[in-house]
Amino acid sequence: RQMDPDQKEFHQAVEEVMETLEPTVDRHPEFVKMKIYERLVEPERTVIFRVPWVDDRNEVQVNRGFRVQFNNAIGPFKGGLRFHPSVNLSIIKFLGFEQILKNSLTTLAMGGGKGGSDFDPKGKSDGEVMRFCQSFMRELFRHIGPETDVPAGDIGVGGREIGYLYGYYKKIRNDHTGVLTGKGIEYGGSLIRPEATGYGTVYFATEMLATRGIDLKGKRVAISGAGNVAQFAIEKVNQMGGTVISVCDSTSTIIDEQGIDPEKCRYIMELKNIRRGRISEYADTYKAACFEGDNVWDVIRKEGIKVDVALPCATQNEIDEGHAQGLVNNGCICVAEGANMPSSPEAIRVFQANNLLYGPGKASNAGGVATSGLEMSQNSSKLSWSRDEVDGKLLNIMKGIHKSCLDAAEAYGKKGDYVTGANIAGFVKVAKTMVAYGVV
Ligand code: NDP
Repeated sequence: RQMDPDQKEFHQAVEEVMETLEPTVDRHPEFVKMKIYERLVEPERTVIFRVPWVDDRNEVQVNRGFRVQFNNAIGPFKGGLRFHPSVNLSIIKFLGFEQILKNSLTTLAMGGGKGGSDFDPKGKSDGEVMRFCQSFMRELFRHIGPETDVPAGDIGVGGREIGYLYGYYKKIRNDHTGVLTGKGIEYGGSLIRPEATGYGTVYFATEMLATRGIDLKGKRVAISGAGNVAQFAIEKVNQMGGTVISVCDSTSTIIDEQGIDPEKCRYIMELKNIRRGRISEYADTYKAACFEGDNVWDVIRKEGIKVDVALPCATQNEIDEGHAQGLVNNGCICVAEGANMPSSPEAIRVFQANNLLYGPGKASNAGGVATSGLEMSQNSSKLSWSRDEVDGKLLNIMKGIHKSCLDAAEAYGKKGDYVTGANIAGFVKVAKTMVAYGVV
């Protein structure tokens, strides 16, 4: 804190994790002796770089690029790239730190990292996005590699951006390797990778509900966001018999009491991924309610909308204490986070005090990076697995993560606490490895 007083998102993530690691201190004196807790919060390496590019008016623009290589104890650095105007070192560090534990939970050999830029792809032409991505990769390429650091997508970085980034990497390295995940299926991508974070979040919610003998059939599900994670969460909830009643982007929220059925979900995909339009258009097309300037959780609280399950899939800190209380008052029994750190610490306390099933993002949204790990395996063995094969592995990984959380929580005296379980299960494996390596 003293070293980086302005990094508030990073401090929030570290505090939440460190509080729950308390029970590991007595059980593992070697972690204290080897200063594992202190070493865990210091990235292995941080790269910050200039990204100059030329816009469509022939004017020069400059953005800032980041790659935080946080921890590679158990495998190459791995984590997404975020392009959004709010990106700064604090946000990239919080995401990279969470990624260490998340990747460990998947059981695959992946360390933690994250990167991105304050570049805003919104409103930019394809040509501008391409020139930006090429300039970004012109520096990033020297820091990454299939055995070193394997970036992927995140907010603002989808299939289009990964294509431009990978195409340029391949050009300047003269190498066709699995250096990015989330690639197109034609050039080394994995089936189910686009779906994986959203599907995985719903699989995790289903596992949590099953502990109380409940399933998603007939449940009213609130989803925030309208991007990659939200879209495939909607698709999977529909397949499992639930009704999705909400969606939002950064300007408005849609409440559709008729449910966002598969046809409406396809409309959202076309609207957001191809036309790159605003979600408010949905309200005109389907005669749904549209709330400008409010996020999903504002609307649920103010309008008293009944919800059984909440899947926040937009961004960090979208649910505050008041929103959490609103969800409790409106009957919510389960929250599974598709986004990273969407609930504030106060909101989490409300969920836990009211005995909700609460799945933190590092567990419930780990399906995305897990499937990236499967993409890496397919790339290195030069094989492509079928859709069913990858989806089956994803489902098993999510079941495994759910079980590891519950087992670790119970083993460390916090039965049923998914937050403690996820943090401890992810941490102990990394910490033991760091001890084994000595002081490096
Ligand atoms: P996208 O860029 O595809 O979508 C993000 C969506 O959230 C957009 O609809 C965006 O609106 C909306 N949004 C962003 N900020 C806000 C805000 N302040 N209020 C309301 N809506 C907002 O990103 P992803 O779907 O990939 O990522 C969503 C979350 O999931 C992030 O937290 C990410 O870190 C996390 N995640 C993603 C993974 C992945 O595989 N993609 C893996 C694990 C976690 P608009 O359209 O206006 O920009």
